[in-house]
Amino acid sequence: MQQTLIYLAYMLSTALFILGLKRMGKVKTAVQGNLLASVAMAIAIVATLFDLQILSWVYIVAGLVIGSGIGAWFALRVEMTAMPQMVALFNGFGGLASLLVATSYFFGEVLERISADLSPDMLIGMDSSVTVGASILIGGITFTGSIVAWGKLEGRITEAPVRFTGQHLLNLILVLSALGTGYCLAFSVTGFWGSLLVLTILAVLALALGVLLVIPIGGADMPVVISLLNSYSGIAAAMAGFVIGDNLLIVGGALVGSAGLILTQIMCKAMNRSLANVLFGGFGATASASSGKEGYNNVKSTDPESAAMILDAASKVIIAPGYGMAVGQAQHAVKEFTDLMEKRGCEVLFAIHPVAGRMPGHMNVLLAEANIDYDKLVEMEKINSDFKNADVAIVLGANDVVNPAALDEKDSPIYGMPILNVHEARTVFVIKRSLSPGFAGIKNRLFEAENTNMIYGDAKQVMNAINEELKASE
Ligand code: NDP
Repeated sequence: MQQTLIYLAYMLSTALFILGLKRMGKVKTAVQGNLLASVAMAIAIVATLFDLQILSWVYIVAGLVIGSGIGAWFALRVEMTAMPQMVALFNGFGGLASLLVATSYFFGEVLERISADLSPDMLIGMDSSVTVGASILIGGITFTGSIVAWGKLEGRITEAPVRFTGQHLLNLILVLSALGTGYCLAFSVTGFWGSLLVLTILAVLALALGVLLVIPIGGADMPVVISLLNSYSGIAAAMAGFVIGDNLLIVGGALVGSAGLILTQIMCKAMNRSLANVLFGGFGATASASSGKEGYNNVKSTDPESAAMILDAASKVIIAPGYGMAVGQAQHAVKEFTDLMEKRGCEVLFAIHPVAGRMPGHMNVLLAEANIDYDKLVEMEKINSDFKNADVAIVLGANDVVNPAALDEKDSPIYGMPILNVHEARTVFVIKRSLSPGFAGIKNRLFEAENTNMIYGDAKQVMNAINEELKASE
């Protein structure tokens, strides 16, 4: 009876995971999706602990309360802009958990077989050795790789790529050594001490690889790396599922692994870069090297007062937000602007580029925080044909995602990246503090366009100033 209940709980949990993931795919249903996945996880933990008879229910409840408490504390405290760091830490702990599960299983089996006087050559079966080895290797890489990614985003470790001669060769040697060690684990390790030595070597190699694979990547590329590490943490969990014979862990891990990989691909595609370029290219790390401030001709600028006069007469405005909106925390000022314009009968829409900002969904999250209606957030493919109907496009702290160089400058590093066609609007206001480049470190000829007016200043201050002008003219 208990076993049947456990299987039912597993099935329910799997269904909720899949449903949760599906719902997370749309802004409108994302909160519900997140909730469903959390419930699925709670069911999974309790069912697994009962299934494998690991602990008494007292420990299960105590663990759930403490774990949920720590998770809730982190989630409530974290700033929206620090979300990638939190995800990095969670991935890292996921990897560490898989490493520990595999290690404890291995020694549990080894000790059991030694005490039963079984042949030392057959400490654990080959299939188990492979999954134990894979769990430790991938889990270890995920753990230290995620800690380095967290450190780079938090500014605790230099954001610049750390490179040295022979780096790729060293990494290759470490990978081959790890594979060799895994082979020993499966075929030639004998006795407790032999196992301990091989396992320790494998874990050390994995932890070192995690650091070495992530330090050469520039800080600005960390969101892509985090998404990839998220996928690794899923694969490590699936391997741990094979190790302990837990189907739910296999399913959950596979879902995380594939979702992370798909997100990584989407991000690379939206930047028109290959994954290899992100991992080995060092792109974006030296943005200031070619500052792009120089070389601008005939750039026009205006002030919030004049901008408000033009906006006063507009009937359709599209806002293209970018990283600068996040830095300036301008989302609430933008919400007020939207309300003021709508009161005047003007339609206001938001053009969302998939890699605007520094993490997937960055703009959606900020605008949702300011209670801006989801229906006003329009994806790039849908809104691009609408810019030509807009009286005004406001580029708010965005740069690369509106750079026309991506369309026709073949030697530009962003050539081929899809962009928001803000240049097609009748008037374009670009709100940013200077002519400094964005993440890609290149000139943006949108700033020189006939229909563009720069409004220099912090995103929030400028939006607030425009709002004041609009209120004054009501
Ligand atoms: P960009 O990095 O191209 O430009 C941001 C602009 O914001 C800067 O030019 C800066 O100009 C301005 N800015 C900074 N602070 C403020 C402020 N307080 N007020 C007003 N403006 C400010 O951002 P985009 O969003 O256009 O593009 C994102 C870039 O990041 C793309 O190249 C993308 O490939 C990359 N990327 C995105 C990832 C993601 O997941 N979203 C992941 C990895 C990379 P100034 O200093 O003059 O104010």
